Amino acid sequence: MELEKLVRPNILKLEPYSCARNEFSGTASVWLDANESPFNGPYNRYPDPLQMQVKQQLSAIKGVPVESIFLGNGSDECIDLMYRIFCTPGIDNVVAMSPSYGMYQVCADVNDVEYRTVPLNDDFSVNFDAMLEAADEHTKVMWICSPNNPTGTAADAADLLNFGKRAKCIVVIDEAYIDFSSKPTMLTHLAELPNVVVMQTLSKAWGSAGVRLGMAFAQPAIIALMNNVKYPYNVNMLTQQYAIERLASRDEVAQQVETLLNEREWLIKALSQAEAVKHIYPTDANFVLVRVDDADALYKALLGQGTVVRNRNRVSMCQGCLRITVGTHQENVTLMNQINEYAR
Ligand SMILES: *Cc1c(COP(=O)(O)O)cnc(C)c1O
Repeated sequence: MELEKLVRPNILKLEPYSCARNEFSGTASVWLDANESPFNGPYNRYPDPLQMQVKQQLSAIKGVPVESIFLGNGSDECIDLMYRIFCTPGIDNVVAMSPSYGMYQVCADVNDVEYRTVPLNDDFSVNFDAMLEAADEHTKVMWICSPNNPTGTAADAADLLNFGKRAKCIVVIDEAYIDFSSKPTMLTHLAELPNVVVMQTLSKAWGSAGVRLGMAFAQPAIIALMNNVKYPYNVNMLTQQYAIERLASRDEVAQQVETLLNEREWLIKALSQAEAVKHIYPTDANFVLVRVDDADALYKALLGQGTVVRNRNRVSMCQGCLRITVGTHQENVTLMNQINEYAR
């Protein structure tokens, strides 16, 4: 793969903005370079544009070099950057498995990039061959989500590895739910896959959706392009400080994941005994997709009781389905009482 051929010509020759904090990053005692106020420290200062402290922690946790890590304002920023870097509006296209995460298509539409969908197989596994067939010389990015939202299905590492090697464009593997999965992360294969971008987030297992921190892992040349195109201070100081704290609480997070996996098992068992539930799809994520008698009716009934689940009734291949996030035991019990009450 020649990376230059995949990058938009205007991005390839972009002269990136050089902010004050990029031009000088050593130690000093008098900072008069960025037109900041001298008052209200530490918030008067611009944050580190490359978030080095957070990345050093992540590097140790994930076993990926700092130069292979990008941090964004949620994964959503990382997703949008793929279009802005690789896809010329009105000319290029992307190929995505379907159904999957809605933001891939929204960002394609915003950037005026054709979004080609390839249906999942009936068992919700990825049809890798069909995705390769759907691609042409203008395909710049392919979207894989594993474990997938909203189906909960995870792909085999061997299949992902094979697909990444056969694809002639950028392959994004969105691992937002990987911490809940029985399948391994693809991060360990990054070196073999120069065209692959693995995305993760603090929003799910790390319990920090409110602070907005998404991660992308890829070969340094791709990370450099992302850094050139992003807003200079895309991750604010409060988020960086919080991330440093949270990443230090790995044991606590591991325990919470363990708890959620146990709760997931409890919820699946309870759902399998519920009359309103027709089918429970296997899941590798912190949610369960269930096919029910009448999805709209059950959705409304639960809303009436103060419980919100995600109605996926109008999503392709998910007719009649609700997506239920695994909550605390008390929340899951409340939900099951309401589902069983509804059936009566
Ligand atoms: C929740 C989710 C994300 C996380 O997005 P953030 O912007 O980091 O909160 C990414 N991908 C998928 C598939 C998700 O479901």
